[in-house]
Amino acid sequence: MPRDPRHDILFEPVRIGPKTLRNRFYQVPHCTGFGSEKPGSQARFRGMKAEGGWAAVCTEEALVSVDSDFWPVVSTRFWDDDDLRNLALMCEEAHRFDSLAGIELTHGGAHARALEARVPAVAPSQLASDYDHFVVPKTMEADDIRRVQADWVRAAKAAREAGFDIVYVYGGHSYLPLQFLSPFYNRRTDAYGGAFENRARFWLETLELVREAIGEDCAIAVRLCVEALGPAGVELEEGLTFIRLADALVDLWDVNVGSITDWSKDSGASRFFSEGYQLEWTGRVREATAKPIVGVGRLTNPDRMAEIVRSGAWDLIGAARPSISDPFLPNKVEEGAYGEIRECIGCNVCVMKAEWGSHIGCTQNATAGEEYRRGWHPERFEPAENADRDVLVVGAGPAGMECAIVLGKRGFRRVHLVDAEDEIGGCMRWIPQLPGLGEWARVVNWRRIQLEKLRNVELIAGERLDADGVRTYGAELVVVATGARWAGDGRTYLTHDPIPGADASLPHVLTPEQVMLEGRLPPGQRVIVYDGEGYFTAAGLAEKLAGEGFAVELVSCLDKIAPVCDETLEGPLLRQHLHDRGIGQRAGVLLTGIEPGRVTATDEFGEAFELEADAVVLVTQRLSNEALYRELRADEDALRSEGVEALYRIGDCVAPRIVAEAIFDGHRLAREIDSENPAVPLPYRRERISLESASIH
Ligand code: ADP
Ligand code: SF4
Repeated sequence: MPRDPRHDILFEPVRIGPKTLRNRFYQVPHCTGFGSEKPGSQARFRGMKAEGGWAAVCTEEALVSVDSDFWPVVSTRFWDDDDLRNLALMCEEAHRFDSLAGIELTHGGAHARALEARVPAVAPSQLASDYDHFVVPKTMEADDIRRVQADWVRAAKAAREAGFDIVYVYGGHSYLPLQFLSPFYNRRTDAYGGAFENRARFWLETLELVREAIGEDCAIAVRLCVEALGPAGVELEEGLTFIRLADALVDLWDVNVGSITDWSKDSGASRFFSEGYQLEWTGRVREATAKPIVGVGRLTNPDRMAEIVRSGAWDLIGAARPSISDPFLPNKVEEGAYGEIRECIGCNVCVMKAEWGSHIGCTQNATAGEEYRRGWHPERFEPAENADRDVLVVGAGPAGMECAIVLGKRGFRRVHLVDAEDEIGGCMRWIPQLPGLGEWARVVNWRRIQLEKLRNVELIAGERLDADGVRTYGAELVVVATGARWAGDGRTYLTHDPIPGADASLPHVLTPEQVMLEGRLPPGQRVIVYDGEGYFTAAGLAEKLAGEGFAVELVSCLDKIAPVCDETLEGPLLRQHLHDRGIGQRAGVLLTGIEPGRVTATDEFGEAFELEADAVVLVTQRLSNEALYRELRADEDALRSEGVEALYRIGDCVAPRIVAEAIFDGHRLAREIDSENPAVPLPYRRERISLESASIH
């Protein structure tokens, strides 16, 4: 299908200072957990997006000074020649595909704990960090200001040497330049504090110095949260005033909203923010500048992108998450392959994985972060050496669907994907029906389209297979992907035992599946949703039931409501949202018994109390549906005599995990199904320094 001519505008080149972008798709800076520590992963991850058509790919925050260290949170550190060499690899990868490479030079100011460097954080004023309350910075003296600016210039020159085309003087989300600009951080009374022009001085001076040093060779970009949507930054009018002040020094305005503490409003989860939501604020930046503007807002729809460019609001379509979910989005638009676009679902699992000691991964794109480590390409699949076999995949949940698709793409003779239910999707049949999670249905939608296209994959819905049915199916390779279910006895990580009286066959005790799939309603009015998991399920059920008129209390044995949602930037907004809907929230409570009409419990100090409740929904832990797998495994002879050569299992059927891991597991098995022992993942490439014993002195 040819591209819709309305989208042609997205493929026009755009000039930024001395550089030209080949089209209007721009991967804005975003975290990966790679930084300069894992140069191979960094280079291949960004390079994949360049190959997929993004005209620019940028690093995450790249810290110019040692006292700006966020370790153990992994950022890019741009301090010495080793960092330069490591990041040069990323530039080479970007240039291989005619894309520009950008580096987001910055300084963390008040927020940097500098655990590795063991130096104090520095900031405009001595005010405890709102990002990390335990950090109280040193007030910067004139020498500190000069030193950081000199570090910035040194880093900018090194960035040019490494091959970067776009160099940032990044300030927002509440990094050092914005800390100077915002009275929330800046209480100085010298030339760098007080009036707006004084507060802008640090940023403007740094821009001037960087421009003087490299402005002929590199484009100078500023990233600015034009509206903090909270205290930690500037309001829109001040944001626009700064843009007017600094405009002559800047080649590209990269604009967004939020702050370091209100990052949840920048990387907004689909639960609360719809596609293009940032335009409400960043759509006004044009009032202040005629220079190129790039904005973000989890855009995946090319019609919307073209409209934005045509309206004159932005020149470039920025993306972090849409480029993670589909590195080939621009190429797919260019080729008119619209149905192939793997749209981001806005779950922020990428944030969870990049920020919390791991490295980036994605629910929709199992290959994200695995480009170097495992050599995976999101669009290329090697023919399997055992492709002449038939494969049976039992269970069409996220893991089974993904596995069947990859097996299909690897050219297997026939892949049979069988599910007991009439609808495919497994747990993703009901999760998107929880309030706010509608966009998560994209997990199934994209896979349904793929399955329909693959002629060697046959989907058989509405057929429950037992062990005999599997053995006699006629497939040589069998993959069990039967998923998991919520425990009906209230066991939690704290007790490892059932709660007395918790039995989901009783009318007043329910599991999530009973509510969502079987349509069971709690008897009476007062419902307790009891959470031992801390992610979206309990909160979602509480909101759903409250919306249906029940008086709902969300009770958790964890010491906070939905703490896992903090990792996906949803937590604070979610707790407020539940509160606004009249849902009671009680954390640190252990249920000790469930009876008709009431529950017994203990509080965080072990004091016993009771709550009145007509029903309890148990969201305590999931259990793998492994009976079928175990029965098959128990009789290897029976498998062999029916011609089954190998039996594997994937996804929640192995151990209940987040959807991203179930999909990854299905993908992994299919990629490695012709390895020596496909049940065990092949080793991945690690990136660490390996020293000879002689070199430690
Ligand atoms: P995962 O997240 O690992 O993919 P899910 O629980 O989402 O797991 O999906 C498991 C799927 O397996 C469900 O759609 C379920 O209907 C299906 N299933 C479970 N047991 C059988 C079986 N014996 N035969 C066919 N399908 C099954
Ligand atoms: Fe989008 Fe979720 Fe993937 Fe992040 S993890 S890119 S939010 S689908």
